[in-house]
This record gives sequence, structure tokens and C-alpha cells, in this order.
Amino acid sequence: MKDLNFFAVESEDKDNCFWCGAIPETEDDYTPCKNCEKTINTGVMIIEMDEEPQFEGQPEMDGGYPTGRWGMMTVEMARFLFPEKPFMEGTILPISQVMFQMIVDKM
Ligand SMILES: [Zn+2]
Repeated sequence: MKDLNFFAVESEDKDNCFWCGAIPETEDDYTPCKNCEKTINTGVMIIEMDEEPQFEGQPEMDGGYPTGRWGMMTVEMARFLFPEKPFMEGTILPISQVMFQMIVDKM
């Protein structure tokens, strides 16, 4: 199945972006850099979430903490997997580690 793609995104803005750079140990938020934003707008971004912070002082996101693992899937695939949720290009979908791993294993 080719609906889920994991890749490293090259960016000049790396140090300031949680999604493609090293996890910044600052009060930084989760605003993606221009490159990641472009990528995110091509489909649905799934984000692996943990209940525990990944480093000291990590800001919360949707009641959890992103691990830094994420991937893109097509809108069609997201609608198929989660028929109860509305999806469009650029939707961000935080999911548990168990769910994330399940999706990765299925691909
Ligand atoms: Zn980025």
C-alpha cells in the first residue's frame, strides 16, 4: 500500500521546526516550517502522540506530546480508516503510539 509515506524533509529552517529538525528544547510551538507546511498540505498528517513529554519542558499539543514520528496519508485513506472524522488536505491527525504503529505495520 502506497498511501502512507514517511520521509525526511530537507529544510533550511531545520532548527526551528519540530517536524523536520532536531527536537528543539525550547518553549517552541509546533508551527511547521515552509517545507513541512507544503508537505502537510498534500494530504493528512498523522502524528504519533505520547502521554509523557519527550523532553523537559515540551509544550503540550491536544492534551499529549508528539514523539516526533509522523507521516502523510492521502485524504481518501484517512477517510477510509476514520470514517467518522472530516478530512481535507492539510488536516492534522494526532493518534496514539499503538494506532500509529498499527498503521505503519499495515502499509
Ligand atoms: Zn519543517
